[in-house]
Amino acid sequence: MKDLILIKYGEIGIKGGNRYLFEDKLIKNMKESLSGISGKIDIYKTHGRIFVEAQNNFERIIDRLQKVFGIVGVCPAKEVALDFEEVKKAGLELIKKELSSPQKTFKVETRRINKDFKYDSMEISRKLGAYVLRNTEDLTVDVHDPDIRLDVEIRHKKAYLYANDLPGVKGLPLGSCGKAGLLLSGGIDSPVAGWMAMKRGVEILPIYFHTPPFTSGRAKEKVLDLSRVLAEYASGSLQVRVVPFTEIQTAINEKAPEKLLTVIMRRMMMKIAEQITSDNEGKALITGESIGQVASQTLESMNVTNAIAQMPVFRPLIGLDKNEIKKRAKKIGTYETSIQPYDDCCTFFVPDNPETKPKLRFVEYGEENLEVDKLIEEAIEKVEIITVEAD
Ligand code: ATP
Ligand code: MG
Repeated sequence: MKDLILIKYGEIGIKGGNRYLFEDKLIKNMKESLSGISGKIDIYKTHGRIFVEAQNNFERIIDRLQKVFGIVGVCPAKEVALDFEEVKKAGLELIKKELSSPQKTFKVETRRINKDFKYDSMEISRKLGAYVLRNTEDLTVDVHDPDIRLDVEIRHKKAYLYANDLPGVKGLPLGSCGKAGLLLSGGIDSPVAGWMAMKRGVEILPIYFHTPPFTSGRAKEKVLDLSRVLAEYASGSLQVRVVPFTEIQTAINEKAPEKLLTVIMRRMMMKIAEQITSDNEGKALITGESIGQVASQTLESMNVTNAIAQMPVFRPLIGLDKNEIKKRAKKIGTYETSIQPYDDCCTFFVPDNPETKPKLRFVEYGEENLEVDKLIEEAIEKVEIITVEAD
């Protein structure tokens, strides 16, 4: 009997001709995300399934795999010889492991690919079910809505058994749908927005605008900490771009109309992020904005902000309210870091009475006193690239 992990993956299956590309990408990402774990780990694809074999560190491996996009379920499984006694033993062991939680009903589901096996699938399910009932207490069969579902697959050389799977993050393999720049601040929203894009297979390039001394080094550390959490979902590492933003911010404060400070600042961020992203083969920008949250998040402001960039700007949080975003942040693991009280840049420069319905031509007029191109070019030259690793 051999312990191994069976990987269930969903959406990839329906990608038609691209299926193999997606599977290979998923396996590559799995290998990368497990590369830091010691001991021999084998990952292979067979019969449209992916298996992971390892000598030890099962828990850490499972933990990592549960954060690999594209995986729907991680199932601790057993591989046994084509011998019904072995099948029974493995089945009982798997069920007993699941019994630690208060579950009372079970069901056996069998698929027999090898038609030479001495029982058919109905017989296997029935006999194995009866064996489990005889060897456990307080357990009954429920074929419609069981607490534990035991799957048995009789294949040509071996049989495979697995019980309830542990949930994966689902989505599509990271990198299978291109790359985008993520405007990442220290707040609650943008890390969640980035995670949602990652879930759709989009690799992200975090970009943070740093305004020392108005924002402290701790604020930057906070963004790097958030990136470390996101890196857990990105095979273990991410490259963060830190853009020196003080000169631009100061110039805006001195030379632009006060009511338009925020929208002009956001346009500068957008323009710089677009440049960095396209220099790195990215095709879109992601922000944590959600309509109506603050003055800069009206449709009018977003229009004016978008007008400076050619790339599409995606806002994955558009349909969520703050409580839903917080809930997601907690699940992802960014929330505790996001609520640490270090100011992010904009809080120092928020005008008392910001324009909530800016008009593009007034904003462009308001930017005329700024040497926009020069400021942007200088900032991009001084971008700091920091590679962060997941803990
Ligand atoms: P968050 O919780 O993500 O900080 P927020 O609700 O505080 O968002 P804003 O401060 O208006 O909203 O920022 C809107 C979006 O602009 C952020 O979600 C982020 O994508 C981007 N952004 C804001 N400040 C920065 C910054 N200093 N560096 C990079 N991106 C930023
Ligand atoms: Mg913010």
